[in-house]
Amino acid sequence: VGFLGWVLLAFGTSLLASWAGARVGMAPLRAARPSTWFDRARLAFPARAASRFSLLLLPMSFAAFVALMPDDLAHPAWVAFCAALAALAATFRVRLHVERITRGRKVGASEMLRGWVGLWVVMFPHAWVAGAAVALETDRFDARTWATLAGTTLAVAGAFAGGGVALARAVGLARPASPRVVRAVEAAAAATGVRVHAVLEMDLMMANAFAIPAAGMILFTAEAVRTLDDAQLAAVARHELGHLSEGPRVVAGRMAGAALVLVALVAARPISGVLSPGVNLERLLAAALVVLAALVFSLGVVRPLARRMEERADAIAHAPAPHAPAAHAPDERDYASALERLYAANLMPAVTRIAGAHPHLYDRLVAAGAPPAWPRPAPPSRSRYLAAVLVCVGVTIVGCAAAIEITGTPLPFGLPEAGFERP
Ligand SMILES: [Zn+2]
Repeated sequence: VGFLGWVLLAFGTSLLASWAGARVGMAPLRAARPSTWFDRARLAFPARAASRFSLLLLPMSFAAFVALMPDDLAHPAWVAFCAALAALAATFRVRLHVERITRGRKVGASEMLRGWVGLWVVMFPHAWVAGAAVALETDRFDARTWATLAGTTLAVAGAFAGGGVALARAVGLARPASPRVVRAVEAAAAATGVRVHAVLEMDLMMANAFAIPAAGMILFTAEAVRTLDDAQLAAVARHELGHLSEGPRVVAGRMAGAALVLVALVAARPISGVLSPGVNLERLLAAALVVLAALVFSLGVVRPLARRMEERADAIAHAPAPHAPAAHAPDERDYASALERLYAANLMPAVTRIAGAHPHLYDRLVAAGAPPAWPRPAPPSRSRYLAAVLVCVGVTIVGCAAAIEITGTPLPFGLPEAGFERP
């Protein structure tokens, strides 16, 4: 299979595989025609999650597949890159389709692209640096590797200090907030007694708000500003101000946690290289263990801290400082209604199988003293999600096997010795 063959195979197979997965994932939503937003969100979740997963899985699979071809069929790295890009284009198309169907509105490709870029620039600029570090470091702990590890640590500190926001402002993805938002934040600041240095608005494909405590900064997405009324904006601002009031030890703990996880991921390459030089199965296992350790640390240490801070910010949002002047005393129902509007706009299920840093919406509403009028919904179907992913993986395997059979290309099972060591 030549360059064009790989690109066509990656595009065609990815399109078919992710489309088939999306069909399976969306079948219950199409059949049920839900009448409430939380039913819709629950039924849409498997297809949305599976299409997000294939966006990551298929480009990576094709890149690995091309890169690991045996020596006599080896391609330069850019062929693997182009195959991954083709798979990304196909899965992006299907992801767009899924969002259009599940949200029931036209979602533009540029809107989605802009949202992704914005998210990754503002929230995870350090991830780009870590990716570059993995490419630039060596398999040993030499000066170059230490420099990339130091660079990764600095990037985390820079992101926590608001570096991503500065970057987003430079490229026009973020701007100072409108007077309406500023007024809402001022009301929230008066109610909570927390000061804020900067309030920004940015374009992400979600209705949400963020706080960057070390920079004293609050960001609202344009969709959140459109979705919420003035009182609800102020209520969400109180939650974000709750984050801004986290102590320096919490900020340091969050930063140290993020730095440790990212540095461990970058260090997986030299650690496994020192333990088992060359490219072999032991080395892959060693690298996987380092990544697993970072994951366990993240879930066991970083997330519980984040969860406690979310509950604290929620408490501040629905019941701000009791000594607040009566003129600034907010209505506690505003926060609950704001939360429900944001989740509805994002089609985020009210209850999921695994809660992230935030508790489930249903529990947040109960904690805010405004339990929903509707009964606690079941979480989205896990078997439906797994079926969608399995169909996607199955079609990919069949597509690749067929291409290999037709072209007479031998399977890349001479790996892993064959990979990576080419000039
Ligand atoms: Zn929060």
